[in-house]
Amino acid sequence: MNDNLPPLRCADCDAVTPSEQAWRCACGGPFELAWSPAFDPTQIARDRWSQWRYGAMLMPPNVPQAAWTTLGEGMTPTVELDWSGQRLMVKLEFLMATASYKDRGSATLVTWLRALNVTAVIEDSSGNAGASLAAYCAAAGLSATIFVPSHAAAGKKVQIERFGATLREVDGPRQATTDACHAAAENSFYASHAWHPAFLLGQMAAAWELWEQGNGLLPDAIVMPLGQGGMLLGYYRGFRALQEAGLINAMPRLVAVQSAACAPVVAAWRNGAATVAAVDEGESIAAGIRIRQPVRGTESLRAIRESEGMALTVSDEAIGAAHQQLARQGLFVEATSAVPMAAVPQIRATWGRDLRLLVPLSGSGLKGRGSGELGEQGSWGAGGAEELGRSERGRWGSGGDGELGERGQRRRGVGAQRIL
Ligand SMILES: [Zn+2]
Repeated sequence: MNDNLPPLRCADCDAVTPSEQAWRCACGGPFELAWSPAFDPTQIARDRWSQWRYGAMLMPPNVPQAAWTTLGEGMTPTVELDWSGQRLMVKLEFLMATASYKDRGSATLVTWLRALNVTAVIEDSSGNAGASLAAYCAAAGLSATIFVPSHAAAGKKVQIERFGATLREVDGPRQATTDACHAAAENSFYASHAWHPAFLLGQMAAAWELWEQGNGLLPDAIVMPLGQGGMLLGYYRGFRALQEAGLINAMPRLVAVQSAACAPVVAAWRNGAATVAAVDEGESIAAGIRIRQPVRGTESLRAIRESEGMALTVSDEAIGAAHQQLARQGLFVEATSAVPMAAVPQIRATWGRDLRLLVPLSGSGLKGRGSGELGEQGSWGAGGAEELGRSERGRWGSGGDGELGERGQRRRGVGAQRIL
């Protein structure tokens, strides 16, 4: 452990954690770092083509550069689309080493873990965060055990195992995976993308990148899927740092979009509630945001309000249509990434058609089961809930998913075997 690092402090009651292994406060609240990055444009390392161009600001000075862990995350392009007759910008956040925006946070979280001399971690995820953490643990020489729902997309499970992590599949809803991991966290370091505040550091870099990409001109609103709240809070904190540095006057409006089947933050926003309560977890093709009680839901709610944003839901049908519309423009993302695109008509109806919107596209569509996320029938009909993975068929993608698939040799179920 490293006494030189800033301690963790409870976001709810301000208590300082007694041990670095504690992943939440005794009161149940999430921890924050007792330190926050300050943005200083003179400290940008302009010859470094990853989010570590902001490394001098993303990490406290006591974290040695030797601990910085990178797979080249960040510096993702923005692209202008014609979306139903209107211009709209997307930022291709799936263009990272593990094909998910989560690599930003994994890079800073694993850096933090190395500074603490942690050597083994556990994590739970619907798939992308687990695959991302497994990759960065591999890069840093840490061992990782990743809990995922058994219905997680095949490609994500393949990634986790190929990165050398131990994969633990848990039957039942997403919450069952979290519960199993929390039980294991009694005896292990829980490096949770949802709970550990060092994960949010990397997410902040996306806001700084946008500021650089736009030469200081930001979009009017950022439209995002909201699960645990990490992406939204990354932008919020990143923009706030730009405000505090006097570089922008106002931050873009932050718009959170959830599946109608599981929308705790939207419910709180609509009710004018001060906190986010748990909701029932319905089924949705947007598996990545199927979170019944987001760890940072209440802070996300505050950020949405402070930025004069909004929170809204979309149906699976609308998500499927937006997914298809993106693909027909050459962008193959996962269903969760199409969630904000499905909300664009509602946003334009509320705020007008001239609003400059930006949507971060968070995850690749190539990780889904079978030939992607679309059903075997190529439709989003009754059987279209591909990420929910009811069928055993395509569990390891009998050729469909697998880089290994030519011989159809993927084994089934959990296993410690290694494919040669
Ligand atoms: Zn507390």
